[in-house]
Amino acid sequence: MVGVWLLLWGAVALSCRGEVAFLRHADDSTGRCTYSFTVPSPVESGCPDAGGVPELRAELAALTARLSRLESRERGAGGEAGRGIPQPQYAAPAPRLEPGCGELLRANSRLEEEKGRLERENEELGRRLESSAREIARLRAARCPPGGEGPGRDPLPAPGEAPHWDPQPLTYQELQSERTEIPASRLLEETALGRPGSQNSGCGELVWVGDPIVFGRAESIAGKYGVWMKDPEPLPPFTRETTWRVDAVGTEVRQLLQYQAPEQLAQGYPSKVHILPRPLESTGAVVYRGGFFFQPRRSRAVARYDLRGETLTAQREIPGAGYHGQYPYSWGGYTDIDLAVDETGLWVIYSTEKARGAIVLSKLDPETLEIQQSWETNIRKRGVANAFLICGTLYTVSSYSSPNATINFAYDTATGTSRALSVPFENRFRYLSMLDYNPAEQQLYAWDSSNMVTYPIRLSRD
Ligand code: CA
Repeated sequence: MVGVWLLLWGAVALSCRGEVAFLRHADDSTGRCTYSFTVPSPVESGCPDAGGVPELRAELAALTARLSRLESRERGAGGEAGRGIPQPQYAAPAPRLEPGCGELLRANSRLEEEKGRLERENEELGRRLESSAREIARLRAARCPPGGEGPGRDPLPAPGEAPHWDPQPLTYQELQSERTEIPASRLLEETALGRPGSQNSGCGELVWVGDPIVFGRAESIAGKYGVWMKDPEPLPPFTRETTWRVDAVGTEVRQLLQYQAPEQLAQGYPSKVHILPRPLESTGAVVYRGGFFFQPRRSRAVARYDLRGETLTAQREIPGAGYHGQYPYSWGGYTDIDLAVDETGLWVIYSTEKARGAIVLSKLDPETLEIQQSWETNIRKRGVANAFLICGTLYTVSSYSSPNATINFAYDTATGTSRALSVPFENRFRYLSMLDYNPAEQQLYAWDSSNMVTYPIRLSRD
């Protein structure tokens, strides 16, 4: 029995090792019980085919299990930086997107700021319009004979239209000027009557303004209004073709763009960008004899920026001049101080409290900016859209938005008198923000709702 138990234990032990054993019992011929125990030959399990496959299968199974674990860990980690796992490729573009978004947000913020400013300006214009309407009504009531309005009286300006004085029906507005300081008769003697090299054939009264010719268009909102011009008396290395431009939307307007010729301006390629030492405020800037003359922001001063030296060479206050929305043109836009150039030199157009909002004209020394002479007109500055000078005579425009505007007043500094005119003037794009005269070319330069335009003119020859 002990032998039988030993055989049974041996079979169990072999089974535990995964090997197959067989136990048989039978009666032999003598009647005794015999037990036989068999196991496979060791040669069979040593065969490479038989023994290697399970191992390889086991390794493959282990590898598959490991890969599955890695995959599931990657999926579980998502966008996280998995420990020991390389960053997925699609995470890389994120840092590139962020600056783009930031730029868009900043641009949007700037546009919102500008929108707010334009809305405030619009409100201010509305207030001025009401105030002008009340003033006209008061004047009519004071000057017109009893019995109310007679035939031919114009109604008050419609809302949204620029207020202006129409001299024809308002006969009580006698256009007699109050001349201040010394007579100006010598001015005409100084005018460039047939100046050598000039296309001018002489001075005369403005009798005709042609259709606007578009030279270029501003590319961005910063150029909704602005200034562009050529120097009628340039100093080398600049020429009469050198063209200057300022996009004037914004509170920090410092960029003065220089173009070799108007064609470059049309193509949008400045040859140089000057950065002004002080930001400018008004669209009344001009270029004359190698200097860029402008009104520095929030000041009643005018300044001369030397185009060659690229520095301010002169700066001077205009005594009593209103600024920053005190006496602008009907367009607004802080056009309180407007510079102008004509055959006789450099001028500044503004108003003062003493003049009670009427246009005051001063002739300036182009080097020192000293006031040489001043005239006080009876043309209300807020009642006109813009102004320029030709041969010592100031001309004003009735409206900045009407396509059928007129040159409505002329003030002659030689005689100190003003008179009504009605020379047609077209605001083709309905938003005239700058208007000046170029005496070398005898044409007007204007900025009309992002468009840089010129107007041919004709003078009388008497
Ligand atoms: Ca002007």
